[in-house]
Amino acid sequence: MNKEVRRKDQFKERVQGWADRLEARVTSITVRPMKTKWASYSTTGWLTFDVFLLELQEELQDYVIVHELLHSRVPNHGKLWKTLMQAHLGDYEKLEEKMKRLQLNLQ
Ligand SMILES: [Zn+2]
Repeated sequence: MNKEVRRKDQFKERVQGWADRLEARVTSITVRPMKTKWASYSTTGWLTFDVFLLELQEELQDYVIVHELLHSRVPNHGKLWKTLMQAHLGDYEKLEEKMKRLQLNLQ
């Protein structure tokens, strides 16, 4: 197995771990190059992540993963979403800042 495949698998395991913890509905996890955003979650449980995320620190990967998975329960970035982000990631706004500096565009 080459390095790229192994990293993808590890990332997917990470997503699955968070999905279990958050009790989020996940039917499929795909990691591929994306053009306009770095991740997306559909209400049917389809998750897609940009391959570039594999290059990021784990804390930033977690930010993106939890961000998307919480959309299985909360469709917006309102008060409830913020509370859950805080509960699972702590000071998530700091991570959000880092992501913004990387020009991350999340749905
Ligand atoms: Zn979002």
